[in-house]
Formats: sequence, structure tokens, C-alpha cells
Amino acid sequence: MMHKKVKKQLEKLLGKEKVFSQKEYLVTYSYDAAGKESLPELVVFPGCEEDIRHTLRIAYEHKIPITPRGAGVGYSGGSVPIQGGIALVFTKMNKILCIDTENFYAEVQPGVVTYNLQQEVEKKGLFYPPDPASLKTSTIGGNVAENAGGLRCFKYGVTGNYVLGLEAFLIDGGKINVGSHVIKDVAGYNIKSLLIGSEGTLAVISKIILRLIPLPPYRRLFRLDFASLGKGAEFINQMIKENIGPSVLEFMDESSIAAVFDYLKLPKNSNLKAAVLVELDGNKGDVEERAQRLSRLVKDSQVLDYKAAETEAEIEELWSIRRNISPAISKYKPKKINEDIVVPIGKIVEAVEFINNTAKEYGLTIILFGHFGDGNIHTNVMVDPDDEDEMKRTEIALDKIFRYVISVKGSITGEHGVGITKKAFMKYQFSDREIEIFKRVKRAFDPENLLNPGKIF
Ligand SMILES: Cc1cc2nc3c(=O)[nH]c(=O)nc-3n(C[C@H](O)[C@H](O)[C@H](O)COP(=O)(O)OP(=O)(O)OC[C@H]3O[C@@H](n4cnc5c(N)ncnc54)[C@H](O)[C@@H]3O)c2cc1C
Repeated sequence: MMHKKVKKQLEKLLGKEKVFSQKEYLVTYSYDAAGKESLPELVVFPGCEEDIRHTLRIAYEHKIPITPRGAGVGYSGGSVPIQGGIALVFTKMNKILCIDTENFYAEVQPGVVTYNLQQEVEKKGLFYPPDPASLKTSTIGGNVAENAGGLRCFKYGVTGNYVLGLEAFLIDGGKINVGSHVIKDVAGYNIKSLLIGSEGTLAVISKIILRLIPLPPYRRLFRLDFASLGKGAEFINQMIKENIGPSVLEFMDESSIAAVFDYLKLPKNSNLKAAVLVELDGNKGDVEERAQRLSRLVKDSQVLDYKAAETEAEIEELWSIRRNISPAISKYKPKKINEDIVVPIGKIVEAVEFINNTAKEYGLTIILFGHFGDGNIHTNVMVDPDDEDEMKRTEIALDKIFRYVISVKGSITGEHGVGITKKAFMKYQFSDREIEIFKRVKRAFDPENLLNPGKIF
């Protein structure tokens, strides 16, 4: 149990309005979107760097675990304080410190909501491309700590591709600056990249310098329907080879199409087994030229149906199919276990088939959709947590799926991180020796294992 003295010390240094131990606060900051729960003993809301420094120094002195947290919409239990201690919540450090239009970067505090940053930079004709589907809630600090991806990864990459530099605090309260304000920088070890995706286990990120690019002025959106996912994959492969250059390539397999068409009460061609949303962006002339090549490719191929959105309402209609997958599938079972496996793009069709067969074998409902351009397949197992038998079957089926993913040279997680939910599968992707190296890195940063303990391994 945390000593009352610690709370008093923190209240004195930070102010009572930033330190809470009331039950309602402890419960609110005890879980994330993965549904994992564990109460912290204290919730601290730093408002500035000094608050972070004081909190870390005191936690270090008293050997108290400390779990950084953004918006808590992570999908792997990363911000759940599984060893109690302090939940360090960044939602009050939410200032955009500068948007530099001469040098194309922004400096932000970690609690800035991703969407808010995008809106602000767009007002200046600039673009911050990473777009996790949680962008209206998630924070830049959480995005960096998870190296979040999104729909536009195929063309624009993930969060880490836009981090130029970081300021971060070590567990003893000391501050480091890693990376810089420039794109090219190979001085010293690349500690910046080590912190990106480190899930709050190595350092507490206090400031982020992000690269910005010019805002593409024009976009077109298309939906392509196929009689099988295999036909969709062939088409996409051709499209990539022909340099049509999509910014978004989202696929839905038969399971997600069935759920969402039923939910939205849309008429459905009985041959429709896979759909792909394709977005093109850039300058108008260039986008229209690529759109023409796309429609020529459609004519020469086995596309079942092809819709090109011409108006805002049509764009919204096409997106609403993808956006409504989550509400549509929530009626199947009370809980969704959302895995984010990745396979090489040439293996997507085989992987979807493997997962569907595994679902049949274990009598499970698994809904699939994902990113055709980067092989990230959202694998949603719909379960009733009170059904012990179903939970056991889910555990065995997921274990099989994770082993399969590694056998085809993929990864156990493309976006959501390992946290606590994927710890058991790390052994499939890494050897003992590799995991020992991870642990040595962890010890170098955090010898007492106080910073987000119990995560990743
Ligand atoms: C509906 C939904 C859709 C989603 N879609 C996507 C998607 O498309 N792509 C994707 O990548 N993810 C997605 N996610 C997962 C999630 O939103 C991301 O992982 C996001 O980055 C989490 O941000 P957060 O602010 O909520 O972080 P939290 O969940 O609070 O924390 C995540 C991790 O970051 C660490 N952390 C937070 N702040 C700091 C800090 N300042 N310093 C050090 N460590 C810190 C925490 O300790 C934790 O390990 C989705 C989640 C939901 C619920």
C-alpha cells in the first residue's frame, strides 16, 4: 500500500488538484479498450514538465510502480496499472506548442488528441498523416508509445515515420532529448526509435517533435466489390504494380460484409464476398489521371461492382460501411477480442482462409477486415466472457493463429502493441536470446522495473 506521505508530498509539489486517490478516479483509470482492469493507488495529472519530474523522483525514491497513460483507448492493456502504484495521466498536457510552417514540424505535449493536431495543421495547409481509427480520442503520446498506424500506412507510413525528436523523462526524473528537429540525423545511437513503440516501459514522453508535410488538396474514394477475396487481392496487386498509388486500401471479408450490410439494412449482391475501399489523394489533375487508370483496370478485370463517390454524401456512404463494422458486430456477442496480426501482403488471402477455417474448427465467430496495403488483418473474435468453454476454445484458436502468422513471416501485432494481451505470444516471434536483449534494454532504462512493469514480457 502506498504511504499517505507520498500523496502528501505530491500534493505539496504539484497541487491538490492534480493528485487523486478517490475510488471514482482509481476506477476510471483502471482499464483500457482491451477491457483489462487493475486499480492504481493514486492518479496524477501532470500539467508541466516539473510535475513529471517530481512524480518520477518520488515514485523512484519510494519504489512505487508508475504507469503512463494517454486517453486509455489502447487495445493491449498497455495503460492498465497492473501492479497498482501511480497512473500518470497526460490528458492535461494537451498543448500544441508550435506549428512551424517554415521548417515543417510541430512541437506538441503528449496529451494532444491526434485529431486536434490534424485539424490545426490543416488550417495552415499542412498534413499530419497518421490516422488511427481512434484518432478523435487517442493522444499523440499514446500513439508514439504504441507506434500507432492507421488507414493511410501503405502510402504514408506509421506514427514513427513522423517523429523527428522526443523529450522524455527517465525513471529517476532525469530528462533526455533524443532525435532532433531535422529529417536526417544519424548522430549517436537511435534512442528515439527505441522509445517509439516502447509502450511506456522505458521512459515517459514529455514532448514530441513531429514532421509535417503539405496537405494533399484533393481526394477520390472508390469501392470495389469482388466475388472472392482472392480476386480482390489479384486486383490490388495489379493496381500497386501499375503505380496507381492509393493512400487507403481497406478490405472487408465476407464475415464483416455480412454483418455490416445486415446492420445497415443495405441490399446485397449474393455473389459479394469481399470489398475494398480505395482512396487516391494528391493534386487534382494527378488524382483524376490515376482514377482514370483505375477505372480502365476495373473494366479489364473481374470486379463485381465498382462505385466512385462523386459527392460528399456518397463519400460518407462508402465510409459508413467500414465505420459501422464495430457496431454491427457488437450484436453477436458481449465482447470483442480485437487482434491485429500482420502477414506479408501476398499471404493475406491464405491467412484469411486459415483464420476462417480455424473459426469453424473451434466453433467461433471471427470477423475479419484490414489493410490490404500492409497486411494488417483485424481479427475480431466475438465471445461471451461468461462462457468458459468458448473462452478456452478462443485461447486455443488464437494460439494457433499467432503461430501461423509467424510461420508465414508476419508479426503478432501491427498497431496495438504487446502490452499484457500478447505477452504469451512473444515467444513465437522472438528467441530467448532476443527476449533477453529486450530485458537488458529495459534494465538499462529502468533497473528497478518501476516504469509500466509487467508489460511486453
Ligand atoms: C475503436 C478503436 C480503434 C483503434 N484504431 C486503431 C488504429 O487504427 N490504429 C492503431 O494503431 N491503434 C488503434 N487503436 C488502439 C489505440 O487507440 C492506440 O494504441 C492509441 O495509440 C492509444 O492512445 P492512447 O492515448 O489511448 O494511449 P493509452 O491507451 O493511454 O496508452 C497506450 C500506451 O502508451 C503508453 N503511454 C501513453 N502516454 C505515454 C507517455 N506520455 N509516455 C510514455 N508512454 C505513454 C501507455 O503506458 C501505454 O502503454 C484503436 C483503439 C480503439 C478503441
